[in-house]
Amino acid sequence: MSASEFSFKVGTRLDGHHGRSGLISTPHGDIATPAFIPVGTKATVKAVLPETMKEIGSQALLSNAYHLYLQPGSDVVDEAGGLSKFMNWPGPTFTDSGGFQVMSLGVGFKKVLAMESVGVQNDDVIAKGKERLAHVDEDGVTFRSHLDGSKHRFTPEVSMGIQHQLGADIMFAFDELTTLMNTRGYQEESLERTRRWAQRCLDEHERLTAVRSHRPYQALFGVLQGAQYEDLRRKASRDLEALRGSGGTEFDGYGIGGALEKHNLGTIVGWCCDELPERKPRHMLGISEPEDVFVAVENGADTFDCVNPSRVARNAAIYVDAGRFNINTARFKRDFTPIDDTCDCYTCANYTRAYLHHLFKAKEILAATLCTIHNERFTIRLVDRIRESIDSGDFQAYKTEFLGQWQGRIKAPAN
Ligand SMILES: [Zn+2]
Repeated sequence: MSASEFSFKVGTRLDGHHGRSGLISTPHGDIATPAFIPVGTKATVKAVLPETMKEIGSQALLSNAYHLYLQPGSDVVDEAGGLSKFMNWPGPTFTDSGGFQVMSLGVGFKKVLAMESVGVQNDDVIAKGKERLAHVDEDGVTFRSHLDGSKHRFTPEVSMGIQHQLGADIMFAFDELTTLMNTRGYQEESLERTRRWAQRCLDEHERLTAVRSHRPYQALFGVLQGAQYEDLRRKASRDLEALRGSGGTEFDGYGIGGALEKHNLGTIVGWCCDELPERKPRHMLGISEPEDVFVAVENGADTFDCVNPSRVARNAAIYVDAGRFNINTARFKRDFTPIDDTCDCYTCANYTRAYLHHLFKAKEILAATLCTIHNERFTIRLVDRIRESIDSGDFQAYKTEFLGQWQGRIKAPAN
């Protein structure tokens, strides 16, 4: 099996921006881009059957290397025939490197910080109430399991070994996650370390691809860090694109990672895409809010993943074109209309707001299933409509129309 099993074709380009439609081909099938990749952290999208994920238009799923390494163990997934077979998901799969989970344990911060962080930089700061569970050194990261406190170590080679065993079609290089709290000096040091780790990932990936040549080809994406600094983001993009394994292996695509402030999202994606070759796909890690999706796509992101649509669904938060609302509130007790009468999902076709409200109040697990189906479908459908608008030349008009509605949004619940 070889790299020729993985390809990316650019479709329609957006005028004046890096955004485009396209098609990623993997050994487990194609992904029309832009595409939202739902997250099944532990090899399952919580509360929803894989068949249902297929029915609502999911083209691929992303699982987490960190979680599957701890439980059941990547060797078990390997023995089962890889992630896709193990979880009975017939389509393409992604795994992240484990770095984000391991290192966010370290500080307890979320990826996208809504607040301004200027002036509060400190390399030792950690989120209130969190204990530092991870330590970074030149060779890798030592951390404690969130399950049982046991000690583990990830290095670029370990992450590649785990991800090759998991067998996803698209994997990510092991990188160091910094936060906006880190100083500029630390960001520079960290970026260099991430570059050295990226080289080690490429070398190990090349070796494992040869050793495991009986398995379908797995593509490897390099991860671009550099926080909110233009020079660092551009340098990271150029540096990683120039890297080659000893046998000439290069990254198949790129992940745009790291901490960033919401209002800088488009600018940062744009800096990276200015430097990256058009012929390779770009994945934005960890976004799904509609306003973020439009900005990321316009500036050049082809795929993105996020746990939010399913996570907030389990807390009764529902997405509709007008915004996000909480089905738990009393005003829905006798509301016998669907969540959204313009939505084509199973939940909206068959159930009322009053029924979903009742399920949450009664703490019935079907609440999580039905609301997750709707929220995942909402996000997939939004991105499908964005893709169609790019192909038909109506992206700007669709963006204006959608965000006009969205910004008159129903007040979002805290989660
Ligand atoms: Zn629906």
